Amino acid sequence: MNIESILLPGIDPKRPVVISGPCSAESEGQCLDIARGLSKIGVKIFRAGIWKPRTKPGGFEGMGAKALPWLKKIKEETSMYTATEVATKDHVFAALKAGIDILWVGARTTANPFAVQEVADAISGADVPVLIKNPVNPDLELWVGGIERLYGAGIKKIGAIHRGFGLYEKKLYRNEPMWHIPIELRRRMPELPLFCDPSHIGGRREYIAEISQQAMDLCFDGLMIESHCCPDKALSDASQQITPEMLDHLLSLLVVRDAFRPSKDLSEMRVKIDQIDTQIVDLLGKRMEICDEIGHYKKEHNMPVLQPVRYGETLRDRAETGLSKHLDPAFVREIIKEIHEESVRRQLAILNG
Ligand code: PEP
Ligand code: MN
Repeated sequence: MNIESILLPGIDPKRPVVISGPCSAESEGQCLDIARGLSKIGVKIFRAGIWKPRTKPGGFEGMGAKALPWLKKIKEETSMYTATEVATKDHVFAALKAGIDILWVGARTTANPFAVQEVADAISGADVPVLIKNPVNPDLELWVGGIERLYGAGIKKIGAIHRGFGLYEKKLYRNEPMWHIPIELRRRMPELPLFCDPSHIGGRREYIAEISQQAMDLCFDGLMIESHCCPDKALSDASQQITPEMLDHLLSLLVVRDAFRPSKDLSEMRVKIDQIDTQIVDLLGKRMEICDEIGHYKKEHNMPVLQPVRYGETLRDRAETGLSKHLDPAFVREIIKEIHEESVRRQLAILNG
């Protein structure tokens, strides 16, 4: 929302601000080829991983500090800004010394408060934008905690990157977007610039366009997209990288809608929504009053709170009713589950009160 707060001179704040480059810096030639391709299509910020956190040892763990001069060369030749991931204080010191313009904290690091604190303290005092990815696990508080640690260390230019969440159960995408989590982050920190990383969410190049579009429709400020001149030959994340030409095509197809266009019609529809929400809350209050009455009845008659058969029937029945109102049964079940959980909590309090 407030992308200007972290932008470096010469970067257009128009959505989406694009950061692109390889998953990993592999060689000076590979980096330069990609940077030239990206520069040609107007990308101004080049990303490359130098220290790669890998799930298992023995994989390609990045080129380390010897790749830093390659990024410097890209800067000199193309005038692009450069960005890399830092996970330890040594990474921070080396990256700052080499003149890297933007640092980012990776998903595995955000999941570890000790590591975030170390990185934050090391950056403290440097006037460099820092982007922090969400933790691998779907834990908004951990993400917010990481952001607070950066602010706490006196870092002023902070942004967040949504890269999806790793779930045990494998689904279509490599990392589940769980959009409600970045949406809630935006509600809590409306001024925080928000990027989406569709490459790590999708895990496969064919999903990048649809995820990028979704991010634009949800008003994200920017995109971080992995690119490579020979994606299939990439040493890491080969299946999710795209060529600069593919990126150009993808960006040209993106529909970026006006962020804010207040109108009378919209205000009227919103008044209706507000009224309906008030009715929903009112009904929830009434429902809980009856649940409390039932709680007292159960206590008097020595009955347990949970009646599993009744609960199963309620879920089925409400999902069916929802269907006739064109509501997704999974959505209705989810809401009823939440309401039921609250009823059980209140009845347990009554039983033990
Ligand atoms: C990356 O951007 O290359 C990376 C390792 O991402 P993440 O921390 O999101 O897994
Ligand atoms: Mn990657």
